Amino acid sequence: MKKIGALLLSLSLLTSGVASVHASDKTSTVRINGESIQFNKLDPIIENGVTLVPISPLLEKLGMKMEWVESTRTISGTKENFSLSMQVGSTDATVNGKLVKVNAAPKQIQNVTYAPLRFVAGAAGYKVDWDPSQRQVNLTSKSTDEAAKGRLQDDFYEAVNAKWLASTELPADKMSAGVLEDLGTEVKELLSADMAKMAAEGRDKTDDEIGNMIKFYKLAADREKLKEQGYEAIKADIATIKSINSLADFAKNQKDLYFRGLALPFGLYYMADMKNATKTALYLDVPEPALLDKSYYESKNPQSEVFLGLYKKMLSELLVMVGETQQEADRIASEAVTFEKEFIQYKLSSQELSNLESLYNPKTITELKAYSNNIDLEKFLVDVVGKAPKHISVAPIKYFENLDKIINEQNWGKMKSWTYATFILKSAPLLSDDFVQASSQLKRALLGHKKIETTQETVYNIVNSPFQYVAGNYYGKTYLGAEAKQDVTDMVKNLIGVYKNKLLKNDWMSDKTKKEAIKKLDNMNMLVGYPDKLDDIYPLLKVDENKTLYENNLVIQTMILKSSFAKIDQSVNRNEWMMSPNTVNASYLALTNTVTIPAAFLRAPIYDKNQSASQNYGSIGAIIGHEISHGFDTNGAKYDEVGNLRRWWTEEDYKNFEKKSKAIIEQYNGVEYLGRKINGQMTVSENIGDIGGLMGALEAAKQLPDANLQEFYQSWATAWRQKARPEYEQLFSIISRHSPNKVRVNTVIANTDEFYSTFGVKKGDAMYIAPEDRVSVW
Ligand SMILES: [Zn+2]
Repeated sequence: MKKIGALLLSLSLLTSGVASVHASDKTSTVRINGESIQFNKLDPIIENGVTLVPISPLLEKLGMKMEWVESTRTISGTKENFSLSMQVGSTDATVNGKLVKVNAAPKQIQNVTYAPLRFVAGAAGYKVDWDPSQRQVNLTSKSTDEAAKGRLQDDFYEAVNAKWLASTELPADKMSAGVLEDLGTEVKELLSADMAKMAAEGRDKTDDEIGNMIKFYKLAADREKLKEQGYEAIKADIATIKSINSLADFAKNQKDLYFRGLALPFGLYYMADMKNATKTALYLDVPEPALLDKSYYESKNPQSEVFLGLYKKMLSELLVMVGETQQEADRIASEAVTFEKEFIQYKLSSQELSNLESLYNPKTITELKAYSNNIDLEKFLVDVVGKAPKHISVAPIKYFENLDKIINEQNWGKMKSWTYATFILKSAPLLSDDFVQASSQLKRALLGHKKIETTQETVYNIVNSPFQYVAGNYYGKTYLGAEAKQDVTDMVKNLIGVYKNKLLKNDWMSDKTKKEAIKKLDNMNMLVGYPDKLDDIYPLLKVDENKTLYENNLVIQTMILKSSFAKIDQSVNRNEWMMSPNTVNASYLALTNTVTIPAAFLRAPIYDKNQSASQNYGSIGAIIGHEISHGFDTNGAKYDEVGNLRRWWTEEDYKNFEKKSKAIIEQYNGVEYLGRKINGQMTVSENIGDIGGLMGALEAAKQLPDANLQEFYQSWATAWRQKARPEYEQLFSIISRHSPNKVRVNTVIANTDEFYSTFGVKKGDAMYIAPEDRVSVW
C-alpha cells in the first residue's frame, strides 16, 4: 500500500502544476543549501511534469565552470572530478564522460537555455526535495547531507545511517540506542500505558491471568507503600540464613531454602536432551556471574579489580541497609565475592559456550552423586525437582570434578556469606526504591548507564519477570494481530522455499546429504508472533493483594519453577515458546529445530505491512533467514530434523562444510572494529546466520515484481544502526557471539554479488571484496 504512496510522492516531487505554466504568483523557488537561487529574474517552468530552469545560473550556483559551444548548441559545466554536458533538443547527456539519458531535453526560450533541474542537480550529487507548503525545491549538497560521512561504496553502514548517527544522542539511562532499542522502548511504553489504564479501570477485579497481572502491577506500582515496607518482606529469610551454622544444617532444609531463593551454588534449567531430543533433560551449571562474564573475575583482566571492588561495595551497602554494621557488612561482602571467584572459574567461557555441545555431558543420578562427599546431590535434586531425574546433563564438567573443594564444611562460612549477600541482591528489585537503586549499581557500571532507570521501567521489569508470557500474549494479540501474523508466516514459508531451492542447487553437497538437509528444513518448526494458547500454568497464577509484592513474586516464581521441573523426563513440547512474544529478538533452537519470531520484533522499520516488500525482506526477511540458517551453522549442522545430536552428513560433505565455515572464520578474524579484531571463531555461527540470512532474503526479494534492491540493502543497514557506550562495546566484544552491528551490515553485504551491481561498487572502494574472496556457506 505504502509502496504506491511512496511512488506518488516521488512523482509529485517536481510536479506542481500543469504543463508550461509561466507562473508568476504560483511559481516555485529553488534553494540550494538553504539559499535561494535567482535565475536572472526568470522563473522556472514546468513542462510535462519536469521543472526546467535557466541552466547558467544553476551551474554557477553549483560551483561549476561553464562553457557554451554555439556551433553544436552544447552547454557544459565542470568542477574537480565532475563534468556534465548537454545539447539543446537532445535527451542524450554526458556525465563524467559517460552517456546518459535525460527525461527532458534542454530547450531555448528567448535565447535562454533551460535544462531539467532534477537531472542536473542530481548528476552533480545534490539531493532534490520538494516542499509543497512553501512551493520550494530544496537542493542539498552531499557535503551537508548523508554523504558527509563518506560514500556508501566505502562505508555503507555510515553512509546510510549518517543523518541518524549525527543527530542521535544516547539517552543517559541507556547503554545503547538504535532500531532494536527503540522497539524495546516502544513495546515497554505501550504495555506500561495499557497496564496503568487497566489498573485504573479495575481490570484487576476479574480473576483471569490478565486480572492477576494487573493486581501484581498495582503492588509493583505502589512505590509509596513499598517505601513504607522497606525490607520487611525478607526479614524472616534473613533470620533463617543467619541461624544456619553448618553445611549439614543447610542441606537438611534444602527444599524450602531453595524455593525461597537461598540456594546451593547451582544453576538449573531444562532443555531437550541432546541425544534424545524428544525428552526434556535437566541441565546443571555454575550460577550466572554477577559481573556478567567470568573474565571480569580474572586478575589478568585490567578491569577486574575495579568491578570486583564495586561488586563488594554494592553488597556491603545492601547489607548495611538490612541492619548489618559497616564492619560486618564489609566482612560478609568480602567473603561472598571470594567464594564467587572460587566457583566462577569453572564457568564455561563465552568462546566455549559458542559450541553448544560443550553443555552436554550426560550423567545418571548415581554418577552425579559420586561427585560430592560433602553434599548429597541425589537428595538435593529429588528434593527440588520432586523426583530423581533420568535425563541429566552437567554443563561444566570441571566444576563437578572440583565440587568438594568448593562446597565443604570448612568453606561453609564463606558459602553462607555468599548465600546471604546474593539473596539480598536478588531480592532488592522487589523492595523499595533505595534497594532497587543500590542493587543496580554494578550492572549500570558494566553497561555504561549514566542514570538509573525510570520508575515506569522498574515497574515494567518487575511485572514482566513472572508475567512475561501473559503480557507478551496480550501484546501480540493487541498490537500485531492475526492478519500480520499470517503475513509474516507467509514470508517464512516463502523463505523456506528459497532455502529448499538453494539446497537443491547446492554444488558442494552430495544428494544423500541434501536429502537429509531438506528433511530438516521441512521439519523446521516456526513459531511466529504469539502462541495461540498460553501455557497451562498461567491461569493458575493468583495474586493476593494482602501479601507483599515480594511474597507474591516468590509464590508465583515457585509455581513456574515447579511446573518447569515437572517437564523433566517428559516429552518435549515443540510448540512451547522459549522466548516471550514481547521480546525484541528472535531465536533458533537446534534441540527442537524451532525458529521463534516474537511479535515485539515485528514492528516498523523491521517489519510493517505498509512498507515495501523489498524493505521487509531487507530487515525481517533477512532476520528470519538468519534464524533458518542457524539450523545449518556450525552448531545447527550437528543436529538433525528432530534436534538430536546426530551426524547426518557424509564425511566428505561435512569436510566441505567445515572448509566453508573456516573461510568465514578467517575473513572475520581480519575485520577490525573500534581497534579490536573480531573473534572469528566465537562469532562464526552468527556470521554464517547473517550471511546466509541476507542471501536467502535477497533471493526472495529478487523474485518480487517490484523488487528494489537499493531499498533492500538500505533496510538491512537501518535495522542495525546503533550508538553504544564504550563499556557496552567492551562487554559486547567479550561475551557476544554476534559481530558488532556495523560489521553485521558491511561485512555481510560485501559478501553478496548484488551489492556490487546495485551500488556500482568497484575495485578500489573500501567496501570491495574480490569475487574469489567473498564467503558464504549457504
Ligand atoms: Zn543468531
